[in-house]
Amino acid sequence: MLLESKPVGPFALNTYLIACRESSKAAIIDSGGGADWLARLIEANQLEVVYLLQTHAHVDHVNGLAENKRRWPKAPIALHPGEQSLYQGAPIQGMMFGMHIDTLPPVDLEIAQGQIFEIGELVLRAIHTPGHTPGHIAFYEEKQKTLFSGDLLFAGSIGRTDLPGGDFDQIMESLAIVAKLPQDVRVYSGHGSPTSIGTELRQNPFLRGLR
Ligand SMILES: [Zn+2]
Ligand SMILES: [Zn+2]
Repeated sequence: MLLESKPVGPFALNTYLIACRESSKAAIIDSGGGADWLARLIEANQLEVVYLLQTHAHVDHVNGLAENKRRWPKAPIALHPGEQSLYQGAPIQGMMFGMHIDTLPPVDLEIAQGQIFEIGELVLRAIHTPGHTPGHIAFYEEKQKTLFSGDLLFAGSIGRTDLPGGDFDQIMESLAIVAKLPQDVRVYSGHGSPTSIGTELRQNPFLRGLR
């Protein structure tokens, strides 16, 4: 698996590019602003983008989505339907943070709990993990032992639940699901450094007692 990431925009959102080395198929997880670095990598590795996957629809995670869809129009935008109102509100939400967001293109694919996304040999499973937002999704690649946790779980912390649509009890239930993954699963979050399930079980105060 090829995995590249870069923090982008005022909220240092981690956009991820993952690709299957055998098939050269690729996916972008959370399209933050500024797609030039993605385009360079995709061209240099001759990748074909087959999905634009979204963990959720907060403004920092969709900031570059319109631009990415223009560049890779064949790749469907995939988002859980529980994010629809946040998605539609993103341009206004962006204005409140002084960010300009292009009108967002329509969602092509509504993610369902457990849905599988094949990117060549890579198999990403969608785990519905509400709490930070109602339709939040974490993407899990079992063979690669990799979890893209969005704003569910960070190194040493968890996602906020005090924003519209947030729910603390729900995020704790969602964390209990990912806490049961193998401890050596690497966790790539929406913000901050990568970590692992085992490290978070030991060090993250919110995960204590969840296993
Ligand atoms: Zn968020
Ligand atoms: Zn975020």
